[in-house]
Amino acid sequence: MPVPPALKPKLSTSVHDLAGVGPERAAQLERLKIFTVEDLLLHRPHRYEDRRHFISIAELKLKEPATVRGKIVAQGLKHYSQRRKSIFEFVLDDGTARLHCRWWNLSFMGKYFHVGDEVMVFGKPLSLKPRTIDHPDTEVLDPGEDPSIHLDRIVPIYPLTDGLPQRWLRSLMWRALEEHESQIEESRLELLKLIGEKYPTRANAVHMLHFPEERHDADVARQRLAFDELFALQLEIQRRRRALEANAQALPCGGTNQLMRPFLAALGFKLTAAQTRVLREVRTDMSGAAPMRRLLQGDVGSGKTAVAACSALMALESGFNVALMAPTEILAEQHFQNFTRWLMPLGVRVELQTGARKTVESSELRVGDQNSQLFIGTHALITSGFQIPRLGLVIIDEQHKFGVAQREQLVRKGRYPHLLVMTATPIPRTLGLTLYGDLDSSVIDELPANRGRIRTFVRSSEQLSKVHEFICGKLKEGRQAYVVYSRVDSPDTEAGIKAVTEEFKRLQKEFAPYQVALLHGRLHARDKESVMEAFRANRVQVLLATSVIEVGIDVPNATVMAIENAEQFGLAQLHQLRGRVGRGAHESFCILVANLKTEEAAQRMRVLEKTTDGFEIADADLKLRGPGELLGAAQSGLPSFRFADLVEDRSLVECAREYARQLGKDVSFEKAPAGNPATSAKAPA
Ligand code: ADP
Ligand code: MG
Repeated sequence: MPVPPALKPKLSTSVHDLAGVGPERAAQLERLKIFTVEDLLLHRPHRYEDRRHFISIAELKLKEPATVRGKIVAQGLKHYSQRRKSIFEFVLDDGTARLHCRWWNLSFMGKYFHVGDEVMVFGKPLSLKPRTIDHPDTEVLDPGEDPSIHLDRIVPIYPLTDGLPQRWLRSLMWRALEEHESQIEESRLELLKLIGEKYPTRANAVHMLHFPEERHDADVARQRLAFDELFALQLEIQRRRRALEANAQALPCGGTNQLMRPFLAALGFKLTAAQTRVLREVRTDMSGAAPMRRLLQGDVGSGKTAVAACSALMALESGFNVALMAPTEILAEQHFQNFTRWLMPLGVRVELQTGARKTVESSELRVGDQNSQLFIGTHALITSGFQIPRLGLVIIDEQHKFGVAQREQLVRKGRYPHLLVMTATPIPRTLGLTLYGDLDSSVIDELPANRGRIRTFVRSSEQLSKVHEFICGKLKEGRQAYVVYSRVDSPDTEAGIKAVTEEFKRLQKEFAPYQVALLHGRLHARDKESVMEAFRANRVQVLLATSVIEVGIDVPNATVMAIENAEQFGLAQLHQLRGRVGRGAHESFCILVANLKTEEAAQRMRVLEKTTDGFEIADADLKLRGPGELLGAAQSGLPSFRFADLVEDRSLVECAREYARQLGKDVSFEKAPAGNPATSAKAPA
């Protein structure tokens, strides 16, 4: 989490020490993660109510949320003993009409309301005959209380926890602001000069967040506080980068072309202009003064592996060892095979380190080994026992499947090695700046020529036999196919969600005489590899799989990707899966068999039908499902914000980055302690 700007000690006072907060209330506040006065002041209202104008009960509309105010004229509890159910209900009257407010199975609600009480009620009428709201938000007016806090104004409504009354928290907030607002300071006074025209001071923003004069004020306040979070994060990212540049002596890995020339000659294709450009950037970095920290983005199939190979060769030629980490055993194996085929003839030893297979033990590695080596592996590469001497370059494939911490762990195996991280999940710029703000970025924006196009179709499960017929047709033409399921086993027949192991027997029959094989994460690593091997060699024509094949797999003769229960997958994930085809010269097909019951699912499928542009797809995914879903659980690098929203606040992110650049130059940083290079600066994430 971004560090909030420095605050005077009093804001760090425990809420226990506030007047009127006893142990019970303090415990409730703690459940909301409010421990200090500062936490309290940053507790964000989840909505506001304009209590300067109420609508009358007679004006309530069906299913439209609204606030009304009236007197309780009746109340009572009904039991339905046979089903052990109860309803507590009161009837509110405001002179224009009556409203029934009901709570199911919360019989104790009766304690809180009495006939004659004046109450404000917020909720959605579920019926107008009679007018009824279930489980509304309520507030009983207290005749003795200050009307300026809870009435006649725009009032904040806070997230609560059991037993904590809305008005009590609001009163506490009011008092805390009166006492502590003046202690809220700017993180950087110079910053206020830059944003002061547009935004209030931080202290004013906190005030406006809770007690805005107008609706719009609350928006502006949120933006200001979001800006502070984003700015703190960007400052930290840039501080980390500067610390690296000041502390680290880059290893000279620019290369000699001695291995590169024969490699390119034997490769069988010419690099695209984009690949060549990226390699120039890599070479400049690796022969520069500071260690390379580069993110390589390139859509699925754009040829990142060849770029990785060339980068590795530069370091190998320069006399350094190289480590390449991939997120799955299947992909690590595939890289191992390709790189062995490419580099063995050049006299470079390639080793594999996965959980299942090790071609070399740590103890066999000798620091004095003259010939440079390439180590390929999964996260087994970072298991602590394994040390790589003279580590010049670390390459991480499919970076989005790893957390920031894992990337740093591998880097730490060496003394400031160069770092190249590759990803095919195109990252919308706001996210990129947030997650990878400390990396330089290269983009491969061009696919190799002569790629057959990929056509995408959405089909319903009723059309499945047609889909299978279509696949058979392609098999007859000599092509291969993937059929992907969202589950390994335990299908959900009611929801129509299939599982790959259950479908296997049926499809074996259906696709006979062609060979069908099964691939999922629960298979033993050795079995996974032999299945992949058989598919690569075209001894198997149809691969039934789960999303284990999502990243990296490259079998150009496979031209059909059928995905069952496509609605169960994220957009970015579907795009990755689709990227498994269209890798050769043949026309390819992606068939999304989907249940389109929800509008969101239908919308997602339409995006895929319409475009194959990974950036457009990632953007749509970000909007539809938010950053967490887009990046997946593994992407633990994502900071959690109280106020900032990476989807809505794109321009704030850009602005925070720019100002952090302007103001960050003079920020001092501590030298990294020896022996823990590159990573001593704590990641902001
Ligand atoms: P990704 O960027 O998804 O990792 P890969 O590196 O797996 O893509 O490359 C996809 C396919 O394209 C591979 O079969 C690779 O050999 C081929 N390829 C890479 N670069 C070129 C190129 N310049 N011309 C033709 N084919 C290429
Ligand atoms: Mg790849």
